[in-house]
Amino acid sequence: MPATLNGGATEHANGNGTHATENDIPTKNFSGKKIPNLPTRTKESKDPRAPLTLPPGFTADKYEEFITAAQQIVEEKNVTVITDAAQLIHEHYTDPSKAHDMHNVVEKTYFVASAVLSPRDVKDVQEIMRLCNEFEMPVWPFSIGRNTGYGGAAPRVPGSVALDLGKNMNRILEVNVEGAFALVEPGVTFFDLHEYLVKNNLRDQLWVDVPDVGGGSIIGNAVERGVGYTPYGDHWMMHCGMEVVLPSGELIRTGMGALPDPSRPHADGLRPDQVPGNRAWQLFNYGFGPYNDGIFSQSNLGIVTKMGIWLMPNPGGYQAYLITLPRDEDLHTALEIIRPLRLQMVLQNVPTLRHILLDAAVSGNKKSYSDKDEPLNDEELDAIAKKLKLGRWNFYGAVYGPEPVRNVLWSVIKDAFMKIPGAKCILPEETQDHPVLQTRSGTLQGIPSLDELAWVNWMPNGAHLFFSPIAKITGDDGMLQYSMTKRRCKEAGIDFIGTFTIGMREMHHIVCIVFDRYNKEKRDRAHWLIRTLIQDAAENGWGEYRTHLALMDQIADTYSFNDNAQRKLNETIKNALDPKGILAPGKNGVWPSNYDRDAWRIPARTLIDRLM
Ligand code: ADP
Repeated sequence: MPATLNGGATEHANGNGTHATENDIPTKNFSGKKIPNLPTRTKESKDPRAPLTLPPGFTADKYEEFITAAQQIVEEKNVTVITDAAQLIHEHYTDPSKAHDMHNVVEKTYFVASAVLSPRDVKDVQEIMRLCNEFEMPVWPFSIGRNTGYGGAAPRVPGSVALDLGKNMNRILEVNVEGAFALVEPGVTFFDLHEYLVKNNLRDQLWVDVPDVGGGSIIGNAVERGVGYTPYGDHWMMHCGMEVVLPSGELIRTGMGALPDPSRPHADGLRPDQVPGNRAWQLFNYGFGPYNDGIFSQSNLGIVTKMGIWLMPNPGGYQAYLITLPRDEDLHTALEIIRPLRLQMVLQNVPTLRHILLDAAVSGNKKSYSDKDEPLNDEELDAIAKKLKLGRWNFYGAVYGPEPVRNVLWSVIKDAFMKIPGAKCILPEETQDHPVLQTRSGTLQGIPSLDELAWVNWMPNGAHLFFSPIAKITGDDGMLQYSMTKRRCKEAGIDFIGTFTIGMREMHHIVCIVFDRYNKEKRDRAHWLIRTLIQDAAENGWGEYRTHLALMDQIADTYSFNDNAQRKLNETIKNALDPKGILAPGKNGVWPSNYDRDAWRIPARTLIDRLM
């Protein structure tokens, strides 16, 4: 039976004849049309083994048959069926859920996996894919599953089986000093690779670029096009060579990995995934012929089982700095200063221009500054900035290289910024007053930390969504995007907390929408806010680089050039590589032909309509 969605909720009865409990699931789409494909809930089932949410088209009996077969592939201990909402208790970054979104913006039990399977090796991944094809089971792979603000480990289609690649497949396969790269499996985190470099006394030769918080996987972050802050901050740009299991279960290696290398010693009889890769696999990205890697990024076309990542040679010297800018409107001047410096690589790394509240939230929750529930006003922001000895905007960067190189670069950067009245330069060695500068000083040299988790606690029971549009690095674009976002935040009753992360020619404007995850009204406000911002941004020609599960379709719709020609291409490739539509259906708005895209849209909630 195909995993089609043409039945009503009541038609997705499980083996015991029970049906979806609809009160905690969005039931109407934007146009008020009833969603025809609510997942089946089996809460009332007498069968304790039945999952909380069955995948579409499954009965409890068919599901059990699948699970029995899956247990034979990966062993029983590597299969956990989510039979009860009480299992969804893992809510913290340091103890992440593998089955639901810890930062849920719709009800926690909506985006939920029916079971978590943890393959032991590549062969298991291949066999699971073959089994999923046989049963037409939707499967959602992840490496670690933290992915905070973008949906965590949760699947787009409720009831999918989650594939926890990181649990057992977590080896650092190679760190190559001469070539300055690593080859890793999905479970290798930024912390793991950094600690490996430290333990093996390699930090004086190589650094790993790390994102704000270091507990995520290198593979997950790179394939989702996450960023860090050294000169190697664009992780997708710095990946080199992949090994991928296709939806059919077939194994491929991309780039130079497709070329066998008789010079690398190995025993006969190894499985293809065990054969050492070509010695240029992690050195040259493109290989020969069409460049395949792009279709495995933010995609549902393959499961990445190995990936190369370039490491940064220790630059031989390093200096982090902070430049504080006193006024809100200094954002404009700062961006005009930043653009040419970044293009010329005087700014060598991915620097960030952070709003005062982002830094304030790292140092304390909202209550520690104000008793107000509504967004803080300009005077209050100024008072916080004064208290923390920061500006309304705070620019964090670093210079890299031997001292004479650093001195020249720093003097150019400093002179440029000092044209802004009231701007101040601060070095981490000169003060202990700036905790964020101390953290950034580590992050900007590839030392991972968890310090930046703190800003999520701005609100009680803090959870967050990221709204992350791309913009030109210009004062006008920055100010327009900032004022638009700030205005909408105010309407939603949410403080603007954001940062501009400066890429090579564009900036990611990362807006951290923090809400109380246990307060439905606040959650709905956050949901309204991000939906409205996506729409506002599209009306200005801005699109987001990445998003949460609930927003994927909305954003995919905005990339609509020539009657959504790009989506049609993506769907054509999807249907060709995954004819049964089993791998992460709906990810990034790409639905296989056996799913009805419109029916699967996540609807606006009632309060959203009221707010509008
Ligand atoms: P993190 O490592 O930050 O915890 P995840 O492991 O949750 O992030 O990965 C984020 C997303 O990236 C997943 O939801 C999935 O869509 C994709 N992804 C992660 N790892 C893989 C992989 N090995 N193969 C294919 N897609 C992956």
